[in-house]
Amino acid sequence: MGLETSHLMTILSCKCPSCGEAGLFEVKNPYKLRSFTKMHKACPNCDADFVKEPGFYFGAAYVSYGITVGLWVALLVALITFDALQLIEFGFLTHPGTFIICGVSMLLTLLPIIYRVSRSIWLSIFTKRIIK
Ligand SMILES: [Zn+2]
Repeated sequence: MGLETSHLMTILSCKCPSCGEAGLFEVKNPYKLRSFTKMHKACPNCDADFVKEPGFYFGAAYVSYGITVGLWVALLVALITFDALQLIEFGFLTHPGTFIICGVSMLLTLLPIIYRVSRSIWLSIFTKRIIK
């Protein structure tokens, strides 16, 4: 349980999937929009390769797509629940603008985090973990 939890936290905090110590990205704050995409080429701590081959992170787009679809479904469930609790008036067919505006706002706000976490998940799939 502890190992899986710490491995999950390593992925979600965008740390090296091999050692879990150093960060994948050069800048820690994902909302520094000029530099949130810059990654280390290798782990500063254990020298694990973060760029396995050219175009390696193309596959992270599939992970990002899955996260995005999950967030849209979660938003839809939240809006339907708020409607059932009579906190807002929402119907999928009667108020589609509410759904689209909330969804696009959510995705634009979370874009840097989704970008980083999807790369971290993709890299962790192809990196062997060093168990201490
Ligand atoms: Zn490392």
